[in-house]
Amino acid sequence: MSVRPLCVAPHPVLRRPARLVEVFGDDIQRMARDMIETMYANDGIGLAAPQIGQDLQLFIANPSQERGREVVVVNPVLESAEGRAAVVEGCLSVPDVWERVRRASRVRLRGQDPAGEPLAIEAEGLMAIVLQHEMDHLQGQLFIDRISWWRRCRLTGRFYFRHRIQKRK
Ligand code: ZN
Repeated sequence: MSVRPLCVAPHPVLRRPARLVEVFGDDIQRMARDMIETMYANDGIGLAAPQIGQDLQLFIANPSQERGREVVVVNPVLESAEGRAAVVEGCLSVPDVWERVRRASRVRLRGQDPAGEPLAIEAEGLMAIVLQHEMDHLQGQLFIDRISWWRRCRLTGRFYFRHRIQKRK
């Protein structure tokens, strides 16, 4: 198992819709294990494959942060989304940004596990939020796309500024 480097916005892999996983085998299992290590190493509660540079439909989630309680989902499909929630979110690929995002409060999805077996998940609370956040990653969406435009403008300005500073060094 190894910790993989994280891709950070505006890396293009974060903006591409991820491809379906069609071959289940050692590679996918290894990737899932590496993602779990990478998530813990960065103190995260979820991680999607594009965040480690892989444009594949796979994510992990573990809002409890307790080892052994990770959920690994491959090729997820949202079956239902109900209720309303607004939670302050952050993302390992969008460092130092924390913003409130409106989402559904309960979701049901189905997909596959890393061995290709079908699975179904029903969740509410923080797990429902993490599932929606990670599913967005597989569509090339980031949580900052879901905040008001004026807040996003302010953030974009900050990203631009930081980029300029790095270039000048
Ligand atoms: Zn994220």
